[in-house]
Amino acid sequence: MARRDYYNILGVKRSATPEEIKKAFRGLALRYHPDRNPDDLDAERRFREIVEAYECLSDPEKRAMYDRMGPFYKPDGRPLTPDELGELVTDALGSLFGKKPDDRPGEDLRYTLTVTLEEVGEGVERTIVVPRQVRCGRCKATGAHPDGGRQPCDACEGSGKSPTRRIFRTSCARCDGRGYILVKACDRCGGEGRHGSEEHLKVRVPPGVATGQKLKLRHKGNDGHGAGVPGDLLVLIEVAEHGLFRRRGADLLCEVPVSFPEAALGARVRVPTLTGPTTILVPPGTPSGKILRLTGRGLPRLDRKGRGDLHLRVLVEIPSRLSAQQRAAVESLSDLTDERSHPLRAAYLEAIGGTAADESFEIPT
Ligand SMILES: [Zn+2]
Ligand SMILES: [Zn+2]
Repeated sequence: MARRDYYNILGVKRSATPEEIKKAFRGLALRYHPDRNPDDLDAERRFREIVEAYECLSDPEKRAMYDRMGPFYKPDGRPLTPDELGELVTDALGSLFGKKPDDRPGEDLRYTLTVTLEEVGEGVERTIVVPRQVRCGRCKATGAHPDGGRQPCDACEGSGKSPTRRIFRTSCARCDGRGYILVKACDRCGGEGRHGSEEHLKVRVPPGVATGQKLKLRHKGNDGHGAGVPGDLLVLIEVAEHGLFRRRGADLLCEVPVSFPEAALGARVRVPTLTGPTTILVPPGTPSGKILRLTGRGLPRLDRKGRGDLHLRVLVEIPSRLSAQQRAAVESLSDLTDERSHPLRAAYLEAIGGTAADESFEIPT
């Protein structure tokens, strides 16, 4: 009988290291494993080949003999028993198929946590209430009523393995590999082994976080099924809009409306900071749009030390209505306006050239 080449079967080079052989075997065995391909004879045949090849190539002595003899190599007479095969496979695949089907890990959960800019400034510890599935204590996660809720499976005599001996024993179809049958469901969890719960969890939000960042709370997702490990809780940070500040990285921007006289004469102006209001000096002759910077009064930086700055943008407010008295004052100011008080305007008019009133253009309001 012409045998297929073991190296070809596993898809590795003849010079493959033991690790490469094991890795190739893992991939193929997972794909063709009878548990994953129930009643597929073709997959079972492939699986038998894969195991035979691995059984030889994973043993240095057998591999050396195979390399010498090539197609004349014969496995040493006695075929492996199903249990020996199972051991070989479990050894290479780890616990993947050693686990019972109800030992699946718990699901990851997500929670959106909204924090204020002030909280970002200092960091904060918040308590959140998370609905999650927890292990049922009453039935110890088996789902069976504590009072005679489960009986050993008679199809597999409690072993959980398929009673029909095939190349590799698969899980017992009757009990799904559990080894027992539920006859009465737990009254706390309804037979699920887990039940809903609201958990109060403390979350430490570090200073400087931004919208979209995630904090991972290990094992605070849903508990696993049976002996499965719990999932994680991902806390998604959302920083609430602030009434006064806009954020650019670690810097904060705030618009500060001042009156024309304040901008022209200079004034002490009350401005907000993250930790409360303070007073700054707006220098005489400050134009609209000028940014006054308060160093180190922004947000903490997540990645390195220090804080950003607070940028205060001066906005000179022009009155849309004037009282008669105000109008008179502004008119007399207008009469005094000259090139020295408005050098930019003077230069601009000179650059345009021509004479006034060449043409008049009404801009509709
Ligand atoms: Zn229960
Ligand atoms: Zn069974």
